[in-house]
Amino acid sequence: MPEQYDLIIRGGSVFDGSGAPSVDADLGISGDRVVRVGAIGEDAGGEVVDASGLAVAPGFIDVHAHDDWLVFSEPDMEGKVMQGVTTVVNGNCGWGVHPQSAARTPPDNSPVPEWNSYGDYFKVLAERPPSVNVAMLAGFGPLRAGAIGSATEERPASVAELAQMRAWMREAMESGCVGMSTGLIYEPDRYASLDEIASVASELVEFDGLYASHVRGEGETLLEAHAEAMEIGRRAGVRVQISHHKASGQEWWGKVTQSLAQIERAQAEGLDVTADQYPYTASSTRLAAMAQNGQFARDDDAGERVLLAAVPGHAEWEGRSMADLASEWDLPVDQAVERVIEQAGDGVFAVSFGINEDDVRMVLQHPSTMIGSDGLGYGSKPHPRHYGTFPRVLGRYSRDEGLLPLETALHKMTGMAAAKFHLPDRGTIREGAIADLVVFDPATVIDGATYEDSRRTPVGMPWVVVNGTVVVRDGTHTGARPGRGVLRDQS
Ligand SMILES: [Zn+2]
Repeated sequence: MPEQYDLIIRGGSVFDGSGAPSVDADLGISGDRVVRVGAIGEDAGGEVVDASGLAVAPGFIDVHAHDDWLVFSEPDMEGKVMQGVTTVVNGNCGWGVHPQSAARTPPDNSPVPEWNSYGDYFKVLAERPPSVNVAMLAGFGPLRAGAIGSATEERPASVAELAQMRAWMREAMESGCVGMSTGLIYEPDRYASLDEIASVASELVEFDGLYASHVRGEGETLLEAHAEAMEIGRRAGVRVQISHHKASGQEWWGKVTQSLAQIERAQAEGLDVTADQYPYTASSTRLAAMAQNGQFARDDDAGERVLLAAVPGHAEWEGRSMADLASEWDLPVDQAVERVIEQAGDGVFAVSFGINEDDVRMVLQHPSTMIGSDGLGYGSKPHPRHYGTFPRVLGRYSRDEGLLPLETALHKMTGMAAAKFHLPDRGTIREGAIADLVVFDPATVIDGATYEDSRRTPVGMPWVVVNGTVVVRDGTHTGARPGRGVLRDQS
């Protein structure tokens, strides 16, 4: 009897996600699992992918995603899927989804389903599956805004409000979230003290959930801000993930040397602290948050370096710099920013150039760093990271610049991420693992998206498999939506 599989990936160089070099092997997939790693006879049955000359790796885990709502409005998730991402970890930077009425909705008007808990969110996801798998961090922001009844209250939470936040956090963990996130430059998170956050984070302990933080400052106060995140980890007794590790603003370039040393010291003292990074010199967030954090007041040239990405109702401004609009309107830049927010709301997203290329390289090479896109897939000019992060690391930084071996780059996208975020049987290739897989060409793989043409898909990433189902076949999205909610510690 010839062997029978649903899918056979034949003749590729297989990277198992552990950081080990590749081995030549065929893969046999049945249902949602890899059931055979090794030689598979020519007479075996099943759809065959010819991977000769190509690399085969576990599907990429995007540990820093903001696709909480996008998975419903754009379920094909082209930006992520086409770059080889098979699982997104949503809810980063404190931007969670529950309570829904207190959550920050995205800058498009697409209708979203309703939910009343994290458990509910996962149910909705099962009813409306996207093309990728979805793991969730519970964002601190809606918990605080929901408990206090306002996102702008600068006071500490009361005892009762804190109890409510902790109850919601517990429900999130019981429902399968992987941890909690904060975004301490944003309202309402910025008004929470270390004590308050550590108190809510203590709900993570019995689940071994992690604390992921967009820290309180990424420039002048970078080291203090990292120290706060680590102190929250120590005090609550939980593992820590520093979000999008960088030094932002030219004055602070080079500071990542110190922040990396700080991570090493904390690790040596026994703290489980790691970070994620997107491989670009521009960041992206809400324009209103840039203004609130003084970006336009501090820096005369800030307008030149800020491009509008998503502007609800004013697509004609997307792609233009704030300096350009300010000069057209004959206004100082900070007033032009105010006008944009007045007319388009505080959901406007912008791209801001402020990171040093050598810093990007140094953080990427460091063993504490894994890969997360931080993509914001809205508007006509989203930051290109939503479409290009993973192929850019593989093509530009690993192959072309030789900064890190391919197996190391892949480990940062797969095995390292799965271990930290408690996603068993993913981020690895072995018999019995979930069949989340990518087949790519190491010689040609590269990002296509640029700041000008930011929805261009990558090249050299011809096959993507999610839970055993082919989602990208020969470079084309098949329309399949086999994604699932991925619960902590469950495959
Ligand atoms: Zn962030």
